[in-house]
Amino acid sequence: MKTIGLLGGMSWESTQTYYRLLNENVRSALGGLHSAKVIVYSVDFAEIEALQHQGQWDETATILSAAARAVEAAGADVLLIGTNTMHKVAAQIEQSIAIPLLHIADATARVLLDAGIERVGLLGTRFTMEQAFYRERLERQGIEVLTPDASQRERVHQVIYEELCQGVIRASSKTDYLAVVESLAKRGAQGVILGCTEIGLLVQQADTRVPLFDTTHIHAEQAVVYALG
Ligand code: GLU
Repeated sequence: MKTIGLLGGMSWESTQTYYRLLNENVRSALGGLHSAKVIVYSVDFAEIEALQHQGQWDETATILSAAARAVEAAGADVLLIGTNTMHKVAAQIEQSIAIPLLHIADATARVLLDAGIERVGLLGTRFTMEQAFYRERLERQGIEVLTPDASQRERVHQVIYEELCQGVIRASSKTDYLAVVESLAKRGAQGVILGCTEIGLLVQQADTRVPLFDTTHIHAEQAVVYALG
């Protein structure tokens, strides 16, 4: 079994989910007492979040590249960045290490293509929904990406930083998210990407008839497939 390196803490609420899923996936593949070999480097998210909102992405890349090198030096064979947003600087992080990076948008595109999805809705931070780095990665695979309208994007973004990343789960936010999912489906989305690693804490497949693609689950599953070779 290969060792999985994880850049976590963005936020740690979703790192817990990653850690559980990596282990559950190894257990379901190998049974018994088997568990995942994992090295987690969990950052202080307050530092990252401040830099994000100031547009200082190069500084975030410097911090995360140093963390990635530490994970590699500790013996990881593959790297996961446990957040969709910080894939904005994935190329810079990738350049600073010799081990492969399992890109969360590539992992998601593979699942969408397998499911025959050609037009998908995308929920995530404003950075993920509005900037090119994530959407273009999917579009290159021939997948059309729909994002919520401006006021919905604002609400989705606000709930991520002010609630989900702080461990707060509110029924009213769930209602708002499900309304956004519905409106994306009405506009023709065949499914919706939960493109922020905390959204699965608020909304799950049982809540809607619209197919959901939870990036945390997809990322962890594909990491384990890779690790088990
Ligand atoms: N975990 C989130 C994501 O997947 C948001 C936090 C962050 O900005 O990294 O995008």
